[in-house]
Amino acid sequence: METKLWNLKKNEPLAPQLIEAAALLAGGEVVAFPTETVYGLGADGLNPDACRKIFAAKGRPADNPLILHICEMDQILQLTSGLTPLAKKLMEAFWPGPMTLIVHKSDRIPDVVTAGLDTVAVRFPVHTVARELIRQAGTPIAAPSANKSGKPSPTNAADVLQDMDGIIAGVVDGGACDIGVESTIIDTTGPEAVILRPGGITLEMVSKVLGSVKLDPGLVKKDETPRAPGMKYRHYAPKAPMVLIEGPEASLGVIRAAVMAEASGLRTGVLALAGTVDHLPRSPRLIVHNGGSTLEELAENLFRELRLFDREQVDTIIGEGVDDTDLGLAIMNRMRKSAGHNILWAENGLLRRKSGHVPDYLKDFVVQ
Ligand code: AMP
Ligand code: MG
Repeated sequence: METKLWNLKKNEPLAPQLIEAAALLAGGEVVAFPTETVYGLGADGLNPDACRKIFAAKGRPADNPLILHICEMDQILQLTSGLTPLAKKLMEAFWPGPMTLIVHKSDRIPDVVTAGLDTVAVRFPVHTVARELIRQAGTPIAAPSANKSGKPSPTNAADVLQDMDGIIAGVVDGGACDIGVESTIIDTTGPEAVILRPGGITLEMVSKVLGSVKLDPGLVKKDETPRAPGMKYRHYAPKAPMVLIEGPEASLGVIRAAVMAEASGLRTGVLALAGTVDHLPRSPRLIVHNGGSTLEELAENLFRELRLFDREQVDTIIGEGVDDTDLGLAIMNRMRKSAGHNILWAENGLLRRKSGHVPDYLKDFVVQ
């Protein structure tokens, strides 16, 4: 299949530029498009055959349900058998925006979308391109992230094409995504709100609105199964093995690990904060990516930088962790998965093993 690419022109009216993409969506084809979080792989969310094409294109396990995207607040009423007061409060506070709500599903929704669950995930994005496309398609759009299953999510059209060229009908290029990590998923069907996936709307922001919110234990404890089916899969993984360095001296730990990896002859990818990058030695074997100097910048850059390491064919990757507060919770959820939970803790001049494997080049340094 030839994949069409629509380059949107900022200073021309948006609606006419999306007619072809929307027509293909309405006709049951799969089209990728930008949102404020990451690029989505869209299809008509009420057409089971169209939704099956999403699973085929991504190589997505059939037990991992899709998020339905809407272009107006009230559109959720066609998709649910009823909203709890919790859901209404959250919609009022954070929609349109990077928040997905789990609600009781209505009979209209095909089983393929919800993977047989009696709940459905719904999001009202703020991105003008996403909203106009959904409006023109005239149907809720099912859209998981536009990557092959297991890879980091794409945050620009070139990264979508890397995974999907020749496989889907088209890609709408609306530039780079603002937030860079996927939406916060909140289950609103029980007595208390539960965050199933951390994202751009932070735990702190939700707590402020609701007074309290729980974090799904499956996100933090290894022996609990996460309640969002997709969260149990290996995800965001670059090709090379990655180690993540966390703790109060993460920056120092990253510099030390990078020096050791480079000295052992490995082509070493480093993803670190700006302050750390400034102190890394220069070497043709050290491929250094600057994640930025704030949590917002790190979230925005994270997936693009991880995907770049694949193209640069590094042997090993070292990542710098941040605190689990604010946007840091969403970032660390992604980074820990990218690293396959190979994590070291840097404190008091020492590197300790927190979980997973210790890379060979650090075996003599790490306190087990
Ligand atoms: P993605 O589309 O890549 O952003 O992934 C969507 C995420 O939403 C996956 O982790 C799904 O398992 C999760 N999800 C979708 N529908 C539901 C649902 N009804 N209940 C819980 N999690 C869901
Ligand atoms: Mg995804």
